[in-house]
Amino acid sequence: MRAGFPEFRLGSVLATSFTGTLSERFGDPVERIPTPQRLVDWLAVYDLAVESCTPAQLELAKELRESIHAAATAAAKQQPLPQPAVQVINDRSTQGRATAVLMPEGTRRWLLSSPDCVEDALAVIAADAISIIAGERDGRLALCASPTCQAAFFDTSRSRTRRWCDMNTCGNREKKARFYANQRNNAGSGTGS
Ligand SMILES: [Zn+2]
Repeated sequence: MRAGFPEFRLGSVLATSFTGTLSERFGDPVERIPTPQRLVDWLAVYDLAVESCTPAQLELAKELRESIHAAATAAAKQQPLPQPAVQVINDRSTQGRATAVLMPEGTRRWLLSSPDCVEDALAVIAADAISIIAGERDGRLALCASPTCQAAFFDTSRSRTRRWCDMNTCGNREKKARFYANQRNNAGSGTGS
């Protein structure tokens, strides 16, 4: 982690972890990739390492991020997909030249066409979003129950009843809020004790 920047929230699903680089969209938004270097750092965590990123590439990334957020939100609500968002996702997906290779130990790795091709990394993220929004993967798109967050996340739990994008942040905050609300209610219930 680099000092002075908000920490990443790292989920297991690439596309929705990417949309999670902006959180609290309905509260006080927290931008977790405020600089090109922070996008480089984030991509490295997800095995999409690039050597550099320009401010223009960061803008492309943020445009893709908000487009995935919009399309995934609509899909979670079973509403028609916003067409401008679909267009951006498709543009990013088709304009990348990343290729998948199988590693000797049986894992997949993405190769970018050049070490500074952020566009290739964005194409991988866009394709991941497409597979989720198209319902190709085992899981359920849902929206975080926190009113200030409402982030789209991909629920792969067996029961499909996950309520929060992130248990350690939104989930915890909700639980605490409920705990204190209950305490207040109990205090106000006039038991006299
Ligand atoms: Zn949340």
